[in-house]
Amino acid sequence: MIVVLLGLIGAGKGTQAKMLVESNDFLHISTGDMFRDAVKNQTDLGKIVEGYMNDGALVPDEITIKMLLERLASSQSSNDLLLDGFPRTTAQCDALDNALVTNNLEIDCALNIDVDENILLDRIAKRASIENRQDDDPEIAKQRLENQRTTLQEVANYYDQKNKLLKVDGLGSVEEVHQRVLSVLEKKGS
Ligand code: AMP
Repeated sequence: MIVVLLGLIGAGKGTQAKMLVESNDFLHISTGDMFRDAVKNQTDLGKIVEGYMNDGALVPDEITIKMLLERLASSQSSNDLLLDGFPRTTAQCDALDNALVTNNLEIDCALNIDVDENILLDRIAKRASIENRQDDDPEIAKQRLENQRTTLQEVANYYDQKNKLLKVDGLGSVEEVHQRVLSVLEKKGS
């Protein structure tokens, strides 16, 4: 099963991804984590993407798609795949579909974890103080949220048109949301 996890910043994508990896043994690929690692290790890629991330902007498609496709190519042996934070533009959706099709694969579903934006800003502020994530600074977070709203809608529409979009209510405890995610995936798989 190949699942795309969608949600605005702070919607709990990362947490739900980790829980799914534990419960269903998905291979988790997070472009945000990959970029953060690159910045932390100050690799060539990290030096290029740092500015975009600190500005709350998306990293250009060309860079992001290349990184993701290389990562996918090195992990073809795994069947169950959880993509977290990718795709975020329709160009990324197309690139992903094209890459999968050449391997006779396709996305099974896109799960959109849905949370009200005011609640998101609150959550992000809390995470910023706990994890000291520079891109969670309230001003940057607001910018990211605004940038993401439009692009998320585009990506959600993309999968909706293919009848692959599934919505999950992201309010409630982490465990409650996890159970909703599992039940949606079970229905999809059955
Ligand atoms: P995330 O942890 O998924 O919110 O990603 C953190 C940051 O990494 C984003 O704000 C972007 O700057 C960058 N990023 C992650 N995934 C993508 C993507 N698919 N396309 C462009 N930029 C991305």
